[in-house]
Amino acid sequence: MNNRAMEYDFLGIGFGPSNVALAIAMEEHAASHGTRAQFAFIERKPSFVWHGGMLLEDADMQISFMKDLVTLRNPRSAYSFISYLHAKGRLESFINLKTFFPSRLEFNDYLSWVAGHFEDRCYYGEEVVEILPDHGTGTDDAVRRLLVRSRDAEGRLHERFARNLVIGVGGEPLVPEAFEGQRDARIVHSSRYLEHLAANPGLQPRRIAVIGGGQSAAEVYMDLIQRFGDASVSLIMRGGALKPSDDSPFVNEIFNPGFTDYIYWQPDERRRRMLDEFRNTNYSVVDVDLIERIYHMLYLQRVRGHARHALLASRDIERVMPSADGIECLLRDREEGGAERHVYDLVIVATGYRRDAYQRMLAPLGTLLPEDGFGVDRRYRLRTCESCEARIFLQGACEDSHGLSDTLLSVLSIRSQEIVEALHDRMLPALDAVPHARQAMAEAVPMSQ
Ligand SMILES: Cc1cc2nc3c(=O)[nH]c(=O)nc-3n(C[C@H](O)[C@H](O)[C@H](O)COP(=O)(O)OP(=O)(O)OC[C@H]3O[C@@H](n4cnc5c(N)ncnc54)[C@H](O)[C@@H]3O)c2cc1C
Repeated sequence: MNNRAMEYDFLGIGFGPSNVALAIAMEEHAASHGTRAQFAFIERKPSFVWHGGMLLEDADMQISFMKDLVTLRNPRSAYSFISYLHAKGRLESFINLKTFFPSRLEFNDYLSWVAGHFEDRCYYGEEVVEILPDHGTGTDDAVRRLLVRSRDAEGRLHERFARNLVIGVGGEPLVPEAFEGQRDARIVHSSRYLEHLAANPGLQPRRIAVIGGGQSAAEVYMDLIQRFGDASVSLIMRGGALKPSDDSPFVNEIFNPGFTDYIYWQPDERRRRMLDEFRNTNYSVVDVDLIERIYHMLYLQRVRGHARHALLASRDIERVMPSADGIECLLRDREEGGAERHVYDLVIVATGYRRDAYQRMLAPLGTLLPEDGFGVDRRYRLRTCESCEARIFLQGACEDSHGLSDTLLSVLSIRSQEIVEALHDRMLPALDAVPHARQAMAEAVPMSQ
């Protein structure tokens, strides 16, 4: 072990929007409270980019710019979207756009601009591979700090100690069972979509499939149709139709940061029911404008009498067999039961993300983690055994306990403040244990109820 490894008050793993918001909250807390914590972030990408594989030219944000990294917490922050526009000399022009929903390209530029202010706080190009317990200089069993091991692009191992960790590593590609273990360059997850095209400039696929029925699948489908004029593109989905995402105002209240308390304090069964009820705000749904564009495009095909592109709904993918001729997919109609065989030159799998990568990272902590599984308290602190004095916080992996906003941008500004306060021990850790406080929170209904 490297004895000269640095020790930090906290290390953030991943430097996506969640941990960038935390960096700002730390800086603003330090300025207002005169605190000075030693902290840094470790990010596997060589520089900041927000879902670079899906930065499509004509994709817009699905959230108001006012839910940027700071505004709901501190509207006077120097890191707001409006401050960014002002710094870039585009504030007046943006106003003339008359929109709350900037393009994803612009929001990525905003996030990169903020991240740039914290360049000296982030070790880019290092992937955290494991986290180990460390007793420090103590002689008892207490784990006072954690050893964070990361690997850079040249394969060199780096080690740092942290008394607190904030893990914000986002999602990892999730693929249907038939695609698991397939290692064929012609099968690409949507998270790498633009990178794949950039790495293969001569690509001219004629038969393309997009798998999935959500926003990313629909966006990639239309992008491929526009990009490859000679290709025929099929959208293959399990659902019976493309369904619209519900972003109407009453429903949207579930993304208010204040709703987090409400859902967190519900009994487990009721919380699960609420998560199910509102899944159509975020999963397997598409912006209604895009649905209408797709419908229009398919309708015009019928007018022309030439059905080049297809939408294959209610289909399961039973088998995937790569061969020299292409990627053969065996589809089963979920309603009628019939089977179809199609061969594609390129398959884009846009079936979402899983958010359990932190569990693999933390596996070396073994018995320090409770036997009954991973769980966090209201302030996002992972439950560990008492002998673990080092604290671990999770950002973006707490949907089951903290609600559907947890993986999105809506709560980042407030959540980062809650974690900063917990890091400074200014929270009320006993709140979870006080029954009447629990009851009061569960009864604090949102405006519309
Ligand atoms: C295409 C797309 C569009 C979206 N649009 C919206 C939207 O309009 N509105 C909205 O609210 N939400 C949107 N989302 C949801 C999205 O999850 C959030 O916007 C946001 O990215 C969450 O930030 P994060 O920091 O938690 O995770 P991420 O943005 O995923 O960042 C995690 C970071 O951790 C790094 N990392 C992962 N593993 C390691 C490791 N082992 N070591 C070091 N670094 C690691 C990753 O490289 C990444 O930079 C969108 C998601 C996608 C995929």
